[in-house]
Amino acid sequence: MSSTAENKELDSAAQILRLAVPQMSALDIPVTPENYTVWYEYFAGTNLDLNRAIDGFLANSVSFTKEVNTSLYKNFIQEQSPEVIENVQIETQILINSLLSKISQLSQGTAAFSGSLAEFGLRLQTNPDINTLNELVDGVVDEMQMLLINNREMEQSLCTMGQEVQNLKSEMENLSLAAMTDQLTSLHNRRAYELSIQDQIYLSQDHQTRCSLLLIDIDNFKAFNDTYGHLTGDKVLAYVALALKQCVRGDDFVARYGGEEFVVVLPNTHFHDALQVAENLRERISERRLTIGKDKKLSLGAITVSIGLASLQQGDDAETLFGRADKALYQAKAEGRNCVRG
Ligand code: GH3
Ligand code: MG
Ligand code: MG
Repeated sequence: MSSTAENKELDSAAQILRLAVPQMSALDIPVTPENYTVWYEYFAGTNLDLNRAIDGFLANSVSFTKEVNTSLYKNFIQEQSPEVIENVQIETQILINSLLSKISQLSQGTAAFSGSLAEFGLRLQTNPDINTLNELVDGVVDEMQMLLINNREMEQSLCTMGQEVQNLKSEMENLSLAAMTDQLTSLHNRRAYELSIQDQIYLSQDHQTRCSLLLIDIDNFKAFNDTYGHLTGDKVLAYVALALKQCVRGDDFVARYGGEEFVVVLPNTHFHDALQVAENLRERISERRLTIGKDKKLSLGAITVSIGLASLQQGDDAETLFGRADKALYQAKAEGRNCVRG
């Protein structure tokens, strides 16, 4: 995006903010990321269904209880998640900008007052009669009072805004963490993977480094679920996740891609080294015999995985790289499972 287009967007976002925050305060709606997103969208006017719903509530003086706010977010915003969450993050930045602009308004107010003081001084030098003098003094006192009131209001509003920004920021951090984490395994999720691989591709274009990608799929997992049940299946997913995490270096990136498939991004790692990492992972996972039950009597046998490996090549994008790893995984499955192909 060009910087002027960006500025325009920021300007209009700040304008919406100036409308949204006071309206939310007036309606006693807490400025949380969810609620802010709802009202941002309302004033942006891009979500007609949302606007119709809110206008209906306003017309009927429905109070914006927690339940009403949640339902607005769920019904009209959440379906577009997680993009919306990112938007709200951008909005927080704008909220901060708006705070700054309030501060600059404050100093402009003071500047206007200094201007009238200067004029008062000038007119004093013209030896005004007592009536004019009284008028002048009254004028200055009025202005001073206005300024004091304005300042107090401004301080109050700065204070509330500041508090709101803090709350919004910390909630936003939690939200974006949750949006990037797989709940079952606590690994990164597919969305986090997509951002990470994109970063690696940019990095390798700049620095001519090579990264490698492992696509890891648990073997015969459906049969496993059918035999031992879904809950035990979930435990196995957590076990594989932990094994992967423990077995790679700190700057390697492990994510659950979906279902029983995992990805590992190995930055700065050429094909042959990546092959070694993949072999180690495969071996480590297949070595342990999992057991369940109170006395650990029930053996689940060996859990094995098949791994497809691809290293980044000139001209690759995330899709072509993934495509090669997927093909290699397919080959590993076809050639008997519990092996690495690349
Ligand atoms: P293959 O060796 O060819 O990969 O066989 P597979 O059975 O592992 O592969 P398939 O794609 O046929 O089945 C994947 C199974 O993974 C089906 C689904 O029930 C299971 N699965 C996906 N997500 C979860 C989950 O979150 N928990 C549990 N317990 N099972 C899941
Ligand atoms: Mg699969
Ligand atoms: Mg599988």
